[in-house]
Amino acid sequence: MRPDLLVKPSSLAGLWKALPSLPRDRRYLAGGTDLMIAAGHGHAGDCWIDISGLKELKAFRETSSSVFIGAGLTIAELAEMTAVKKWLPALALCAPHYASPSLRNMATIGGNAANGSPCADGVCALLSEKAEIVLGLKGAKRKMPLHSFFLAPKRTALKKDELILGFEVPKWRHVSAYEKLGPRSYFGISKVTVCVSAELSAGLVKEAVIACASVAPVPLLARKAAEFLYGRRLDEGTISEAAALAQSETSPITDTRSEAAYRKAMVRVLAVRALSKLPA
Ligand SMILES: Cc1cc2nc3c(=O)[nH]c(=O)nc-3n(C[C@H](O)[C@H](O)[C@H](O)COP(=O)(O)OP(=O)(O)OC[C@H]3O[C@@H](n4cnc5c(N)ncnc54)[C@H](O)[C@@H]3O)c2cc1C
Repeated sequence: MRPDLLVKPSSLAGLWKALPSLPRDRRYLAGGTDLMIAAGHGHAGDCWIDISGLKELKAFRETSSSVFIGAGLTIAELAEMTAVKKWLPALALCAPHYASPSLRNMATIGGNAANGSPCADGVCALLSEKAEIVLGLKGAKRKMPLHSFFLAPKRTALKKDELILGFEVPKWRHVSAYEKLGPRSYFGISKVTVCVSAELSAGLVKEAVIACASVAPVPLLARKAAEFLYGRRLDEGTISEAAALAQSETSPITDTRSEAAYRKAMVRVLAVRALSKLPA
């Protein structure tokens, strides 16, 4: 099903001005890779607002303490950026696992979050990097931890017409590992994903964040497992215990992509792999 109306504002100010004149059942169109699928199921509204030309959403800013990535940046664009490789290693690592090269040229990081899917790769990486999400509606802006943005499968904290402006990620000296299990090694939506980011000092874990995708109603932070790692050396026993804790924090379902019991078992396997890949 196609929308009756497609509009393409050239600036954020133009967008806010146009909103009152547009049909009520409207959707933002970024890369369209999720919206086109929703349209096929008749869930994509009467009016699409093409936000792909908004340069405000393509912003990339770096301060001494954080990095801001605009919601309209595509996965391919992000994967190429030197600052992303330096400060967001998990996001850089997830890119090759994300759909296919052609999809990565269209899919935006904002669309990945707005879609509200528990299996979103970009979201899982950003969660592990302690990202906050920045939202905007007309003149008003608000910011929240990315994990608070997801309320239920396909339900987020976005208000009507609110736009994801981007993500702010603190600069912390972490290393990351990204382990995704899909129907194939690449080009598939995840059955289970575990992403670990950690700061190590003298071989001990100073801080760790473990994010999991496709194993809970929303993208998940395995907090107990991450807390357990604090102050420990990443030896075999620690890794095994942390992986078991991460597994206990998940609540996967059976769906067309995988079975709950298999997913649960694989969380532990992927967590061991991810933690073992971090430099000791
Ligand atoms: C074949 C295929 C394979 C895929 N593989 C993967 C994969 O491996 N990993 C993965 O994570 N995803 C995958 N996806 C899902 C999809 O590509 C991603 O979620 C993508 O990042 C969505 O971004 P988009 O720009 O295309 O969003 P769109 O389709 O344009 O939008 C998606 C939703 O978000 C809303 N939206 C978009 N941008 C904003 C914004 N800035 N503010 C507020 N709302 C907004 C739209 O209104 C819409 O409801 C796949 C999809 C397909 C079709």
